[in-house]
Amino acid sequence: MNERPAPLSAAHLARLRRDLARQGMSVNERLTNLLAGMNGRLLDMKMPHERKPGLRPEEKLRRYLDQIIRAQRRLGTETWGVCVTCGAQLAQAQLDDAPWQEECDRCLAE
Ligand SMILES: [Zn+2]
Repeated sequence: MNERPAPLSAAHLARLRRDLARQGMSVNERLTNLLAGMNGRLLDMKMPHERKPGLRPEEKLRRYLDQIIRAQRRLGTETWGVCVTCGAQLAQAQLDDAPWQEECDRCLAE
């Protein structure tokens, strides 16, 4: 269950880094626009699981951006891809889709 996956190839890591950077820029741009009063168009953005419903849109974007930045720091280390809550290994397919994900489905559902 908690088996370490095989190390990612350099190309795979590079692609994940690129995805994280792109998503970070996108979220940052939305946050900037929102704070500038230009309507960040949140509705078309798929947000990660929200632990605290009722947060203001700018707070949601800040949290999302923080999550992306944490993933950028962890990518390539042993802690990336491991659930921060329970320590379970996340599925690579999920991580490829959302490299900023930091909790497993079970913990997210709680
Ligand atoms: Zn978990």
